[in-house]
Amino acid sequence: MPDRTGLQIMKEIVYPFPSSACKVYLQASLEAIADIAQGRLIVITDSNVQAAHAAQLAAYTCIVIPAGEQHKHQTTVDHIIAQLIELGADRKTCLVGIGGGVVTDITGYVASIYMRGIPFGFVPTTVLAMVDAALGGKNGIDVGLYKNMVGCFRQPVFILYDTLLLQTLPDAEWINGFAEIIKHACIKDAALFDWLAIHQWQDFKADAALTDELIARNIAIKAAVVLNDEKEAGERKLLNFGHTLGHAIENLYQLPHGHAVSIGMVAACRISEEMHGLASADKDRVVQLLQQYGLPTQLDFDKERAMAILLKDKKQSAGTVQFILLSAIGHAEIVPIGMEQLTHLFEQCL
Ligand code: NAD
Ligand code: ZN
Repeated sequence: MPDRTGLQIMKEIVYPFPSSACKVYLQASLEAIADIAQGRLIVITDSNVQAAHAAQLAAYTCIVIPAGEQHKHQTTVDHIIAQLIELGADRKTCLVGIGGGVVTDITGYVASIYMRGIPFGFVPTTVLAMVDAALGGKNGIDVGLYKNMVGCFRQPVFILYDTLLLQTLPDAEWINGFAEIIKHACIKDAALFDWLAIHQWQDFKADAALTDELIARNIAIKAAVVLNDEKEAGERKLLNFGHTLGHAIENLYQLPHGHAVSIGMVAACRISEEMHGLASADKDRVVQLLQQYGLPTQLDFDKERAMAILLKDKKQSAGTVQFILLSAIGHAEIVPIGMEQLTHLFEQCL
């Protein structure tokens, strides 16, 4: 990504979520966290981000966790808490998660339980965390193979976007992030879908202004949904498009989150075509866009094992899964599907 000097004009948006407001700083610089986070600041990051940005992070007290989804677990929480005690962190300490979605999810969770809750903020460093994970107040960890089984809703005080941090992001992680971006387009924004269709991920990597626009459009979509339904009583469920099956196969096959969601979205489109009136041509356009962005669209998975994990998913109740289906690109609905019918659909469509 080219140097963005000259483009760096910080923009501030305040999202007044029902539980508490979150300040979003766009086109900002990591250094600004010292001014934004009031009081003492302790950074939580992972080993890759620490290695890639050692010079910038040297200014802060850092707790470094091992990188990877397999560490989004209770043992890492225990390790962070032990260090917070050691460092004398108190209720006025602000935890700042600098990293991808694993770091932001775990930082928000630890900050919510340490001393019954201390303030926290995020500096997302992956495309996926910038467009999705950092915003919305869902924090948590995995338990065994079950994704995000333990967690809480609590808003970060701030989210700071410094897209210069993406310069060290591996290409595979750029691609991964586009799964959530395509998800937003599929469920809410046909114009975003068309815009993505005339680009490829490399265009965004090469053009800071385009990346800024991409981030702004995506957080606007997610924030609007969370403003309406912070605790996922209704509309927010739409953001789970591709995630019902996605979560079931993600840890089962150690897939990157974006890959699992991509495969899950294709499955959801096939089911949408079968029972929700999605035009076959629209399903094909979704598959084509995912492929254009380098995302996988099929996986030969063990349907029985996936179904068993799905049964334990927190989004299912009384044997019914709240599946998110498309009626058209940009239009999604919540459709309850019984387990028996779902098993049948899996056999038929996947
Ligand atoms: P991640 O945090 O594992 O990051 C991906 C990889 O990139 C890691 O190896 C990481 O160390 C590395 N990395 C991060 N930033 C880097 C940088 N700037 N330079 C070099 N390497 C860097 O994964 P992710 O894809 O960011 O996030 C996935 C996680 O987010 C999943 O656990 C998912 O459940 C969660 N998530 C949460 C929400 C939410 O609403 N809370 C939404 C979507 C996803
Ligand atoms: Zn996701």
